[in-house]
Amino acid sequence: MIPLPPSGQQAHGLPLALTQAILRAWERRFANRLLPYAVQQADGTYRWRYQACTLDDLAAHLYGETTLALSSTDGHGHCRWLCLDSDAPDAQPRLLSLRDALADRGLAGLVEGSRRGGHLWLFFDRPLAVPAARGVLLDVLSSLTPFSQGLGSYELYPDATQPGMLGHAVRLPLGVHLLTGLRYPLYDAAGQPCYFSTVRQAAQYLVAHPRLSAKTLRARWRAIHARTSAAPTATPLLAAGGQVRRHIGTYSQVIRWVDANVSPLDLLADLAPDCEMKQAGQGYLGWCPFHDDHAPDTAGKPGTPSFYVVRDRLHGWSWKCFSTNCHYSWGVMRHSFELFQRLLDLSVKSAIVEACRRWPEADQDQRPTQAGS
Ligand SMILES: [Zn+2]
Repeated sequence: MIPLPPSGQQAHGLPLALTQAILRAWERRFANRLLPYAVQQADGTYRWRYQACTLDDLAAHLYGETTLALSSTDGHGHCRWLCLDSDAPDAQPRLLSLRDALADRGLAGLVEGSRRGGHLWLFFDRPLAVPAARGVLLDVLSSLTPFSQGLGSYELYPDATQPGMLGHAVRLPLGVHLLTGLRYPLYDAAGQPCYFSTVRQAAQYLVAHPRLSAKTLRARWRAIHARTSAAPTATPLLAAGGQVRRHIGTYSQVIRWVDANVSPLDLLADLAPDCEMKQAGQGYLGWCPFHDDHAPDTAGKPGTPSFYVVRDRLHGWSWKCFSTNCHYSWGVMRHSFELFQRLLDLSVKSAIVEACRRWPEADQDQRPTQAGS
């Protein structure tokens, strides 16, 4: 099944290219965070890429040149969408029935085919706290048992509700699945697969799909709480939680390892290459990744690079921003771990998990214990 007909003839006279406005609307709809993003590999798995996803990357996904998945949460425990992923053999008709039942209850969504079943997307007009987004949908699902039982097992993303966790990545619609070479269709209001003449038409159809009011959903979530009258229970650390717990005792060691062994210049080259760090005196100067360094100052003079990195014998690597417009201009010089954490917009806990994944040698528990210690 492909949502684009093989013949290009129907595209005659239609504008083909994606415009910046469409790509921006696509980004607003799907990007909880742009960094990192995940790229599908030939074996169908996804690998995080620790750089910011650009409009060009989103266009490449839509044109079928690469296949992207984006994090289901931002760095603060909010999400712009929910994606219910069902792998049941007859998922599509069931998801379409569920879509209609949810629409009757104020949760209008969009169904997309997938390799083994389908995805039901709910989009929000503003980022919404993950527990509220999930809570409202799960509350409705619990009242729709015939539908939800028929779905068999399903996953609901985002699944992590801990702020600062990197949300499970979900493949963006309309991309080519690398295992099958197929694009999977969107379904229209009548439950029929949509056929589009151009990628642009398909993307436009999707970004025109109505989004749910985050404000209304928050109010519904408060009402659900009042009804169940139970205080919200503490969310256990999910998924990577085992790792997080294991590292609580070794937090400072991982941070110290990163500070001592990772150069901010390498981090910037990898995660924020636009900084273009250049040697300046004893240290290095480049465009700040945390504020708009290019903007002219109050006197109208053009911006200058103000992000400074230096290494000295006493303190090792450290960094700060010299611009008074910047949050990172105050206080003492900062070290590599904090740069890693800030560039990825993660909580300290999640940054520790990510650091151990990226630099296994930073993980105390994996390192051979030193003789005599
Ligand atoms: Zn700055």
